[in-house]
Amino acid sequence: MSAPAEGGVPQAAQRPAVGYALHGDIAVATVDNPPVNALSLAVRSGLMAAIGHALADPRVRALVIIGGGATFVAGADINDFGKPYDEPSLYAIIDALMASSKPVIAAIHGSAFGGGLELALACQWRIASPDAQIGQPEVKLGLMPGGGGTQWWTRLAGPEVALAVTTGGHPVAARQAHEWGVIDRIASGPLLEDALAMAQDVVSGTLPARRLSEATDKIRDVDPALFDAFREKNARKWKGQLAPRKIVDCIEAACRVSFAEGFRLEKEAFRECEHSYQCRALIHLFFAERAAGKLRDASRATAAPVRTAGVIGAGTMGAGIAMSFANAGIPVTLLDTSEEALLRGMKTITANYATSVSRGSLPQAKADAALQRIQTATGWSALADADLIVEAVFEDLAVKQDVFRRLDGIAKPDAVLATNTSTLDVDAIAGATTRPDRVVGLHFFSPANVMRLLEVVRGPRTGAAALTTALGVAKTLRKISVIAGNAYGFIGNRILGAYGREADFLLEEGATPAQIDRVLTDFGFPMGLFAMRDMAGLDVIWRIRRQENLTRPAHLRYSPIADRICEMGRFGQKTGRGYYLYKGREAIPDPEIETLIAGVSAELGIVRRDIPDTEILDRLLCAMVNEGARILEEGVAQRAGDIDVVYVNGYGFPASRGGPMQWAVETGLASVYQRVLALHRQHGEYWTPSPLLAKTAACGQDWDSAAAPAP
Ligand code: NAD
Repeated sequence: MSAPAEGGVPQAAQRPAVGYALHGDIAVATVDNPPVNALSLAVRSGLMAAIGHALADPRVRALVIIGGGATFVAGADINDFGKPYDEPSLYAIIDALMASSKPVIAAIHGSAFGGGLELALACQWRIASPDAQIGQPEVKLGLMPGGGGTQWWTRLAGPEVALAVTTGGHPVAARQAHEWGVIDRIASGPLLEDALAMAQDVVSGTLPARRLSEATDKIRDVDPALFDAFREKNARKWKGQLAPRKIVDCIEAACRVSFAEGFRLEKEAFRECEHSYQCRALIHLFFAERAAGKLRDASRATAAPVRTAGVIGAGTMGAGIAMSFANAGIPVTLLDTSEEALLRGMKTITANYATSVSRGSLPQAKADAALQRIQTATGWSALADADLIVEAVFEDLAVKQDVFRRLDGIAKPDAVLATNTSTLDVDAIAGATTRPDRVVGLHFFSPANVMRLLEVVRGPRTGAAALTTALGVAKTLRKISVIAGNAYGFIGNRILGAYGREADFLLEEGATPAQIDRVLTDFGFPMGLFAMRDMAGLDVIWRIRRQENLTRPAHLRYSPIADRICEMGRFGQKTGRGYYLYKGREAIPDPEIETLIAGVSAELGIVRRDIPDTEILDRLLCAMVNEGARILEEGVAQRAGDIDVVYVNGYGFPASRGGPMQWAVETGLASVYQRVLALHRQHGEYWTPSPLLAKTAACGQDWDSAAAPAP
């Protein structure tokens, strides 16, 4: 190793990723890799060099590692997961820190997550700013701590805390971590000064020398039943997930074996997680969510600030949308046709806030402030100053066009006018105004104040300024926005239509609602399709279907089961009966429905058969993928990942499987294509394979490359 350089470790780059300086007899290594000081190769090399210099320099008695800029090392670089490690790896740094003959103190401000925290845990001492946060969020990406995290947390804070922190993945405040013994000191002044003072305490012996890897006080006499009880308690939540189970195994091992052996087991388990489908799926979603709200073409404009908003319609959606604005600090005026409708809406809103307060998820003061931001009105002039107005009235084109005509008369010229329609043509709604370029779809999901997904619908005449402003406000509302083209059902409901239709056909062929729902929940959906329909209410979509039936091509297969159920007055949970019978919220299979379905099969001349679960799953997932491929080739979605983001965040597709398009990639696009083709031969037109699916299967291209227009 080259000789120590005062004031900086030699680096190929102009600005060293890790600065090095002497403060008397204490060396300070400052990580400088904006924006979050991720553990890139340059940072790892810089840290190794800094440790080497500190050890080699006889003047240095201790080393402080601190972050430059806004944070300590916030974590590993997600792009590095699943790839071979370039040396020096985090492991090499941890080994060097553990073997260091001179004490090393980590000084944490901002956040220290994942590998960044493990870097700090490998130091002998940790000091943190009072507002710092630490955590092991790996589990959220299908991973687990891999740099000794499970072993250190167990030895420092005991197995119960270690289990909660590492399987939960949530950030922990520095003060809490201090109480648990994971942080040794909370800084009371400037962090570097306090860290240098702490280093002097260590050097002078005021703080005794220690080897954390040999600490055993928190792992002695641990009841082994603790781990099985924890596994059992979380069995349902962790269904099909590898990482949290592996974490428990490693924490259990930490209580039994040496640190070195525990660390070895953790590395092995980490590798397994890193190469799992779940990890690939969750990392795919991580990047897909960040990409989804970005326009691929050059039609970007500057987002105008949204300082005030209006919402028209104080029903189910309007109330939730108004809450979303109020929660984000944007004053909002809620308009409806009568005081009575407004009172009903405000009652819902007040009750929702009261529930959040009583559950402890929202402080009373915040609830009060949010409520204060919601005004009501019946007169349209109240919306004249709003920067953005969202319409959420009945799903009826004539009603919505009338609303937009009126809005055109009162809204200021640069206001963005948005419709929350689920099924109607955004362009036909925009056509009711003299400013169709200012009209955009904002398709919120129910409950709108809770669900994070937002389909931002770009009509053919939607202007770049309105679209960019809508995307900007979505960020303020903390929504995950996905840009969708103006096609029937946009992205989510269009796919729901395709796989819902297949589920109806499966009923006719021999399955039951309970069987299909079980197959979906076994796959990882939180609830089955028929239970979901019952929850949403069957009458709304029935009304839409009756309209559509007037123009439906007669040669296409059509299942009358859903209509028959509605004709019996069974509208789902709200009437206590739908596909199931309801005792409270408990869904009970109903023989009357099974008889109805069998009757439809007989009428249609279909001989019912036992349908294997595998066939049900295959047909439902392949229907989603084939429709998803059509959506992509038509440009209704910009990217395959957008479809996955919609399905995971709006329709309960299990995140650990990455969404339907990622499921197809994992399954093999050629294999999915063959299955769709076979279903096409057997079941006809609906199963015509999408040309894009055929293309990806034939040339091995990924979805987005295959969908890109030829240069
Ligand atoms: P809702 O029936 O609960 O509420 C509609 C409200 O609009 C009522 O309060 C009504 O008084 C008011 N209204 C009707 N005409 C009006 C007018 N001309 N001027 C002012 N107010 C008027 O309906 P909802 O479920 O909230 O749905 C509203 C819209 O949101 C529909 O377009 C629907 O398709 C869409 N949507 C609904 C859901 C859902 O799950 N409910 C999800 C996404 C989108």
